[in-house]
Amino acid sequence: MGVAEKLHSAVESFIRTPRKMLIDGKWVEAASGKTFETPNPATGQTLARVAEGDAEDIDRAVRAARKAFDEGPWSHTGPNARERILLKIADLIEQHADELAEIETLDNGKTLTESRNVDIPAAAATFRYYAGWPNKLYGETNPSEEMFFNYTLREPVGVCGQIIPWNFPLLMAAWKLGPALACGNTCVLKPAEQTPLTALRLGELLLEAGVPPGVVNIVPGFGETAGRALVRHRMVDKIAFTGSTEVGKEIQREAAATLKRVSLELGGKSPNIVFSDADMQAAAEGAIGGVFFNQGQVCCAGTRLFVEQKVHDAFVDTLTQSVQTMKQGSGLEPETNIGPLVSQEQLERVTGYLDIGKKEGAKVVIGGERNTQKGLEKGYFVKPTIFTGVKNDMRIAREEIFGPVVSVLPFKDENDAVLQGNDTLYGLAAGVWTRDVSKAHRVARAIRAGTVWVNCYNVFDAAAPFGGYKESGYGRELGRYALDLYTQVKSVWLRL
Ligand code: NAP
Ligand code: MG
Repeated sequence: MGVAEKLHSAVESFIRTPRKMLIDGKWVEAASGKTFETPNPATGQTLARVAEGDAEDIDRAVRAARKAFDEGPWSHTGPNARERILLKIADLIEQHADELAEIETLDNGKTLTESRNVDIPAAAATFRYYAGWPNKLYGETNPSEEMFFNYTLREPVGVCGQIIPWNFPLLMAAWKLGPALACGNTCVLKPAEQTPLTALRLGELLLEAGVPPGVVNIVPGFGETAGRALVRHRMVDKIAFTGSTEVGKEIQREAAATLKRVSLELGGKSPNIVFSDADMQAAAEGAIGGVFFNQGQVCCAGTRLFVEQKVHDAFVDTLTQSVQTMKQGSGLEPETNIGPLVSQEQLERVTGYLDIGKKEGAKVVIGGERNTQKGLEKGYFVKPTIFTGVKNDMRIAREEIFGPVVSVLPFKDENDAVLQGNDTLYGLAAGVWTRDVSKAHRVARAIRAGTVWVNCYNVFDAAAPFGGYKESGYGRELGRYALDLYTQVKSVWLRL
């Protein structure tokens, strides 16, 4: 496989052995005996084989999680012990950071620089942040009539089914497991079929950190089978999902049958608004990072780039020059700054949108096609693309492309920017670039989105909430807000 000689020995042995699923603290084959392959997106070749979980495996995993929750040991594991385990998980992720980063890059395609400097440290930071919460989950005492005493207990929700996408595989696992475990829940995690590997390596680290059997179960498999079975299972109390709006809607419909709680972090078509009074260099760098980070496979990518009319042409020139210098290649190569898309399916989806954009009359300033240069022809590479002449009602401005494609749209003034920016079904994030402080705050208030970045983009912290307005979903992950997703409140009355 060409790059094998460069790999960490722990990574080589991890991918050479077919990977099993984690149920009740043990690594087991699928009940059906089936496996599936995960390809390396840079080469299109098989990277590893993985056990393919379906409804029967999900049932075993859910029963293990139910038992660990209802009978213990997790329900009897106190807050200080949970804190120590979460800290240990964070430490182990850091100790194995190089190895995890390589697995992530091989499985997802993202550059090693990004895996090593963003995904893996952020996953560790998420567990470390949530390690601080178990002994700070307070109830309250409430005013009541004299003869009563009323207080609340903040209790875990129970068994959480967690379904995650392929764009930040380890980090999404951390966003789900960190707060769920801090609050005392048990979990069944289904990683995306395209990128199951780091979640499975994480499973080994969880056991090493002392997570008891059944508390976290990891079942790789397909959404249609394993994912759906998890959503339907009567013993699951809550579903947390990150992925497409289409599947999010289906999950909400399915969950209605058992009235599970649901939290959804879905797609976006985020406006990134550049005013003429902005620091143009910083805005151009922010616009590039805001859309091409992770090959554009980011739910909050700034894919609708609104530029004030009078600086539009000059700004597009600066962007184009910057894109010209981007080097595309395998994520393992240190000089690469844009890698392949995750899968053949994603390649077809994104190139399909490139055709749609051209047919709709948008102009390709740079890119606009698959990259088939020598050495890349078997991988899923799409050239970073800038479209101009885009109207907000074109499909490329309305639908999530999830690839390295930006649509540039001119605007007249602040009001026009806000109206066009909000003219979308989504509401996940937005960017504002200006030196005018009042304008920055006015626009931040006016935009209907869960996150607004001013003079920056794609900034995250485990303490800062993240989630959507409108069809970008509901519920807030990260920060103390995620505790609301993973706890419920009990009111206790006592007659004095
Ligand atoms: P997706 O189908 O929404 O996948 C997300 C997760 O949901 C995966 O684990 C998937 O499993 C699972 N899933 C799929 N169908 C399910 C069902 N009926 N019941 C339960 N779980 C189910 O996303 P995708 O097909 O990989 O990507 C398609 C588009 O979604 C992208 O092009 C992009 O626009 C968007 N997307 C958004 C995000 C985000 O962060 N907001 C992330 C990824 C993709 P399998 O992978 O095994 O099918
Ligand atoms: Mg893969």
